[in-house]
Amino acid sequence: MIEARQGELKRTFNRMMSEVVRTGRCCGCSMCVVTCPYGVIKYNPLSTSPYIARPKAGSYSCPISEEIGCDVCANACGRLGTAYMKPIRAEEMDVWVFGRKRQEYEPCGVKRFVCIGRSTNPATVSNAQDGGAVTEILRCAFHKGLIDGAAVAGPSDKLWLNPVPRVVTSAEELTKTAKSWYTYCATPMALKEAVDRYGLKKVALVGVPCEISGYATALGSDTGFITAERGEKNVERQKRHLKQYVESVQLTIGLFCAGTFVFDGFIREYLYEKLGIKPEEVVKINIKGKLIIELKGGEKIETPLAEAKAYQRPQCGYCADFSAEHADISAGGIGLSGWTMLVIRSARGERIFKHAVESGYLEIKPVSEQGINLLKRFVYAQRKRAEEHYIRILHKK
Ligand SMILES: Cc1cc2nc3c(=O)[nH]c(=O)nc-3n(C[C@H](O)[C@H](O)[C@H](O)COP(=O)(O)OP(=O)(O)OC[C@H]3O[C@@H](n4cnc5c(N)ncnc54)[C@H](O)[C@@H]3O)c2cc1C
Ligand code: SF4
Ligand code: SF4
Ligand code: SF4
Repeated sequence: MIEARQGELKRTFNRMMSEVVRTGRCCGCSMCVVTCPYGVIKYNPLSTSPYIARPKAGSYSCPISEEIGCDVCANACGRLGTAYMKPIRAEEMDVWVFGRKRQEYEPCGVKRFVCIGRSTNPATVSNAQDGGAVTEILRCAFHKGLIDGAAVAGPSDKLWLNPVPRVVTSAEELTKTAKSWYTYCATPMALKEAVDRYGLKKVALVGVPCEISGYATALGSDTGFITAERGEKNVERQKRHLKQYVESVQLTIGLFCAGTFVFDGFIREYLYEKLGIKPEEVVKINIKGKLIIELKGGEKIETPLAEAKAYQRPQCGYCADFSAEHADISAGGIGLSGWTMLVIRSARGERIFKHAVESGYLEIKPVSEQGINLLKRFVYAQRKRAEEHYIRILHKK
């Protein structure tokens, strides 16, 4: 019986590996790898999951966890709640990030207001995914000295259409990292690099909703479980690792997301083998009820979204968060062309957004009622999809 298993469970490395990673619920956010103080787990970008880089012979356990106690990784994992096979509740994260739970009049999560926005710079718009609002807000934050770096996704030098986490340290570099990549890119790994390698203290984190949830989890997790029995030196190190990356974040921008594709299936099998499109010919891919693939010569190829959905990562089925409910600002392109829908959620998000509008980086318009209804439809559909996945997996046990 599921009920008999439910209760307040400790969030441990062993539970994370058995209930999250091995069941296929791991979203790939990489927060466990980012926060691990001893380099025991590493990130595999192809499987988009963590793996044990230093396994104890014949064992899947963590030697550090067993010897001195640790479990920092598990306390940064949004997919691991205190009940068996349950993620952290969205309302709990609301309190950690916004200091209050969502109200009944906030069906898409805590928010201040919603509008649509577009960069006033034509070069940004032509290079961006929708209205270039994300790039322009980051540009403004750099110019105003509010951030000294941004953890984003950028093109890989090796494999075209396979994004890699990138640290951007100036507004000028932003154009290269605009647009959306529809295969997974663990941007929190760039946050780690921003802090460890560049020593940055004011970072913006851009990511899909599950990455923003990972950030929210590490931010909200109580370090009280790290006790002196582990030795003072270890306590200090473990606490620092759980908190230092997320505490350097000054702004989070979450991208609406219904799912990402498996690289091999979507790029190799579908685009290249089935449609005959060479990845290096693709300038941009967008989803607007259908898949729109823009090629270098200006040609646009449109295919049914249902065909592409066959290549969606199975782990996305467990995701209930379409609109990045724990970001300072959430951004998406639903129902729009050349504009970005913006959900301003937090005080610091509002502050940066207002700077961007008042200083002329962004032009804005009210969102239509149709737009709000569309957003709600996507939000509800994703919650329902996740619920069905959880029912299925729990009844298998
Ligand atoms: C995987 C994915 C799925 C999405 N699904 C939807 C959807 O179903 N409905 C919808 O309305 N919107 C969706 N979006 C959001 C949409 O594509 C745009 O990112 C959003 O509208 C902002 O547009 P913009 O022109 O303002 O952004 P831009 O100015 O073009 O900036 C985009 C930013 O996103 C970062 N980024 C790009 N790809 C990734 C990635 N894979 N992981 C993390 N960061 C990334 C870039 O580095 C850049 O900083 C999705 C985005 C992604 C990445
Ligand atoms: S228990 Fe600690 S050392 Fe082991 S993988 Fe997790 S964070 Fe790393
Ligand atoms: S923290 Fe993220 S990457 Fe790590 S196990 Fe949890 S969901 Fe997966
Ligand atoms: S659907 Fe959810 S789990 Fe999948 S990539 Fe988007 S935010 Fe992450």
